[in-house]
Amino acid sequence: MKKSRLPLFPVAILGLALLVTGLPAETISLTVDATKTPQKFLSVQLVLPVKPGPLTLYYPKWIPGEHSPGGPIANLTGLHFEADGKPVPWQRDLLDVFTFHVDVPAGVTHLDAKYNYIESAGASATDKLLILEWNEVALYPAGTPAEKLMYQATILLPEGWKFGSSLPVENASGNKVEFKPISLDLLVDSPIITGQYYRAVDITPSGEPIHHEIDMAADSEEALNMSPAIQKAMTNLVAESGKLFGARHYRDYHFIFGLSDHVAHFGLEHHESNDSRLPERVLIGPDAGMSLGGLLSHEFMHSWNGKFRRPADLTVPYYEQPMETDLLWGYEGLTDYLGPMLAARSGLWTPDQYHQYMASIAASLGPARPGRTWRPLLDTAIGEPMPGGRGGWLNWRRGTDYYDEGNLLWLEVDTVLRRESKGQKSIDDFCQLFHGGANNGPEVKTYTFDQLVQTLNQVVPYDWAGFLHERLNSTSPQSPTGGIENAGWKLTYEPEPAKLSGRRGNTGDMYSIGLQVGDDGMVSDAVVGSPAFEAGISSGMKVIGVNGRVYRHELLEDAIKAAKDNAKPISLMVVIDEYIQTANVDYHGGPRFPHLVRDDAKPDMLDEIIKPRIEAAAKQ
Ligand SMILES: [Zn+2]
Repeated sequence: MKKSRLPLFPVAILGLALLVTGLPAETISLTVDATKTPQKFLSVQLVLPVKPGPLTLYYPKWIPGEHSPGGPIANLTGLHFEADGKPVPWQRDLLDVFTFHVDVPAGVTHLDAKYNYIESAGASATDKLLILEWNEVALYPAGTPAEKLMYQATILLPEGWKFGSSLPVENASGNKVEFKPISLDLLVDSPIITGQYYRAVDITPSGEPIHHEIDMAADSEEALNMSPAIQKAMTNLVAESGKLFGARHYRDYHFIFGLSDHVAHFGLEHHESNDSRLPERVLIGPDAGMSLGGLLSHEFMHSWNGKFRRPADLTVPYYEQPMETDLLWGYEGLTDYLGPMLAARSGLWTPDQYHQYMASIAASLGPARPGRTWRPLLDTAIGEPMPGGRGGWLNWRRGTDYYDEGNLLWLEVDTVLRRESKGQKSIDDFCQLFHGGANNGPEVKTYTFDQLVQTLNQVVPYDWAGFLHERLNSTSPQSPTGGIENAGWKLTYEPEPAKLSGRRGNTGDMYSIGLQVGDDGMVSDAVVGSPAFEAGISSGMKVIGVNGRVYRHELLEDAIKAAKDNAKPISLMVVIDEYIQTANVDYHGGPRFPHLVRDDAKPDMLDEIIKPRIEAAAKQ
């Protein structure tokens, strides 16, 4: 179904691949023995049709949705090749650790590859469940785009485990599941979830012709207890997505949902599913709506924005070709605007939770993120593939701000569409135009900056190119609150924190003394130029004392309050490497936490933006 989109064989990258001419158009067989999942040890067998001579095999490096060359190559172990029962030697490429070379002996038509995949760091496997992204276990021959390579995948599950996936099944019997032959790009796009404790929940709205379900596996039976209210809100989410985009681009849709404290927590988008992972007890805790609305809604929006409409330079024909990430403020930023918006429209979030979420991201991108004065939004997108960057200093490095600042950028776009059209047009019109069209299953329609601008101009004529360039290249320290203000709200700071739960966690004391410090005293961020930073504190240090007492976070809060009424600095004792220093924080502004308040001089556009679009009757 998918069409070629880019020139397929940049010579510089595929020099070696061109040595292999015209592989037989035969299916590659990929069998994953997952019966040792509790030991985090998968055994893989790949049978590949080959011709004699040099053969180059790749392990996927640039993973769609991850935007960086992060394929887990170090977990590929136990590699052996065989042909007609005899071992065939292999060598890793001298310049690229993801590439392997073998010399296929004369007369050989099929090469057997056997290897293991180690589920290290517990990222995807526990004693009770496994989420398998097929790129982790696939090798593929160089010289053919992923959409032209056919795979027949089989998995052997631990005894008694159930599974869910958008991958069409050919045959399932006992613990063996054989999937229908499928192209490599769709296989990599169709993870499976399996577990001892497993439940599938139908969330197809009434009248919706396309099937939607949540496929959940958890570390306990109890953790699968999704409340009727959450099930209803998730069904609303599906219905609201139909209203927003007016089209779907999948055959059916699966929310693959892992609930465990022993897997990495993140979400990865796919065309016909998403792989979302949250702590074990999320569904049975008080913040289920906030958590699901924060993650599952975002990943679901990606089916339209990111998978179907994808920046042309992020669309590569196979996984060794580097991606260019300059349009991530569209790919992720717009998704990050639509995700919370639909979480609120569907009832996963309350309007107040939506307001406070927007306040928290707007505040985090203001003077407490001075990195914005040297690094414009555009560079956070372009710099995404940069290695490292996880060791604190977020306020100065910036990291992946194209998500949050992209969210605020698209809110501003939405408010300008509304303002310029006198309330006749909105982001919904843009989505219908940009993400709509016939449902041809999982296809990709690429776009460039100019095409994005062109579609915005079709909705409402405006200097969209100028608007975007200014915001993408700005180095102003002020919070990007244009959209919030256009929408009739204001970002303010109050002495008490908003009761916000979910994805963003505690902002600590970033907006007062300039410190993000945990209950254990570890400083994860110290705002460059803030009172705490000027007193000598930075990321990675540990606060052990506050005004002469052993550190507890409450004592620091008390000290910030008390300092408002006197001239004495707050005295913090900090550990720097193995040395102890006193840092005198000269701050007297009292506690400050971000809030969103109404500006009565303007109409309330924000609540119009998050108002449900589906009929009240359909929500019952
Ligand atoms: Zn995303």
